[in-house]
Amino acid sequence: MALRTLIFTTTVLYGLLAAHSHPAPIQEAVDVPQFAFASASVAPPEAYNDTLGERRDNIDERGPYYGGDMVLNEEQLAELKSGIIGSTYRWPSGRVPYQLDASFTSAEISTITAGINMIQSSTCIRFYARTSETAYVYIQRGASGTGCYSDVGRQTSKYNVVNLQYNGCIYSGIAAHELIHAIGYFHEQSRPDRDSYVYINSGNIQSGRAYNFDKYSTAQVSTYNIPYDYDSIMHYSAYAFAINTATPTLQPYDSSIALSRLGQRNGLSSYDAQKITAMYSGIC
Ligand SMILES: [Zn+2]
Repeated sequence: MALRTLIFTTTVLYGLLAAHSHPAPIQEAVDVPQFAFASASVAPPEAYNDTLGERRDNIDERGPYYGGDMVLNEEQLAELKSGIIGSTYRWPSGRVPYQLDASFTSAEISTITAGINMIQSSTCIRFYARTSETAYVYIQRGASGTGCYSDVGRQTSKYNVVNLQYNGCIYSGIAAHELIHAIGYFHEQSRPDRDSYVYINSGNIQSGRAYNFDKYSTAQVSTYNIPYDYDSIMHYSAYAFAINTATPTLQPYDSSIALSRLGQRNGLSSYDAQKITAMYSGIC
């Protein structure tokens, strides 16, 4: 329906977000495409992860969508409290049917598959090729400029979309990050308790992007009593959406935490695995 168009139409989404005012919705995770890699098959993951040394820029944090790379559905746009606490957003038995865009190259498919394996190797979640399921994850090979983004949690009125911009988002860690949104997780720095762990330098956040730093309430999300995790694959980098890219937008209160630790996309942290396991406890 119209919602699907919304997901692909930045301007429309911006309009919607504006119309709903703040705090904006919960349901789509948009990340920030930052580096315009010439070719996903050329740039190694290391280039994505830490091209600038201390400074870390994640392409999945640059999208125009809510939270950088999250697409919110209508209910989530309208009812902020309908967060990913809610069994309807879980994949039954932890089994996730997925379908790949036919235009992915075999090398790209290998990269995405490695991202899937990052999740499968440490959780009970299992991805399998979709046949006739109506609720499934469609992984599309996005055109340049479309960014990396995902719906959050299993959708029931439509299929989930994970968009991977072909030049910039096709890395195993980014695929895993977006698929974890699809499983039901938001960004780590959106946790209800995040203000005890990271300082949000709102004065350095790009105009119109403050919603990416919204915090969810305990009615919307659960931390499952797992500690705040600077090393989460779901954490933004320290400079996400920065105006002055030499100054962090996210700064740990614990000064012993190196800024470069934030925003890693090498794989799931142990807490990431624990969170997913907790979310799907009794389900898979
Ligand atoms: Zn994200």
